[in-house]
This record gives sequence, C-alpha cells and structure tokens, in this order.
Amino acid sequence: MTCPQCGREVADGSRFCFCGHNLAVATSRPPEGVGGWLLFFCVQLVILAPGFVLMNVLTTAALISKVGAMTPIGVCLSVDSIARLLIAGAGVYIGSLLWRGQRTGVTLIRPYLIAFPALHLLLACLPFVFPFARDIQVALKLHW
Ligand SMILES: [Zn+2]
Repeated sequence: MTCPQCGREVADGSRFCFCGHNLAVATSRPPEGVGGWLLFFCVQLVILAPGFVLMNVLTTAALISKVGAMTPIGVCLSVDSIARLLIAGAGVYIGSLLWRGQRTGVTLIRPYLIAFPALHLLLACLPFVFPFARDIQVALKLHW
C-alpha cells in the first residue's frame, strides 16, 4: 500500500509509515480515485500534452537538421524543444501523481499551473531575444 502522507510504499497491514503517519486511520477509508474533469485533466497532462509536444519536437528536429544545430536558429530551436520536453515531463510526473490520488500531486500542481504559461510565454519570446527573428522566418518558410 501507499502512504497517503508521503507517498512511500509501505508493507500491507502496517500501522505506521516511516514518516510517522498513522495508516490505521487512512485504511479505514476506501482509496479515492480521480474522476470527472480531474480525470480528463490528468489524461491531458499524462497522455495528450506529451503526445503533442513529442510531435512538435520531431517536427522541430527535422527543421534543426535542415538549418544546422550549431547555428543560432538551431540553438534557439533546440533550447525551445528541450524546455518543452522538460515541462511536459514535469506534467507527466505531476499528472500521474494526481491520477493516483497522491497528495504530492495536489501540492505540485499549483506551482506547475503558474509556471506552465509563464515558461511558454518565455519560450515564445525566445526568438525575439536573439537578433535573428528574420532568419527564423526564412527558415520556417523553407520548412513549411
Ligand atoms: Zn508516509
């Protein structure tokens, strides 16, 4: 079984977790699963979002191979792809915690939901930070 306090695996029938949480209280209550909009949210975090990011990264990888990874555009696109993968990875981790009804997931989802749009806004500004926005337009035209 899993401790609802710290999320660690504890032997079935244990009265106390390593963290000191009284499991006798927790086991008297049936484990809560997630459903409704929260389940959809978890599916979105764990399956849909990473799927889209993966497709996006594969498309970007093709573009990077075309413009060259060591060019400024290539570096910019690589940083963007890696950041998106990390954000999606954090989403998968937090989403799976939430899905299993773990308290850590509830704690982590708040900063994630604040960081998510902020990071994407930063990534959207990335091409404008570097003085080669026009080169990217040329590269995109080449790609599309
Ligand atoms: Zn514990």
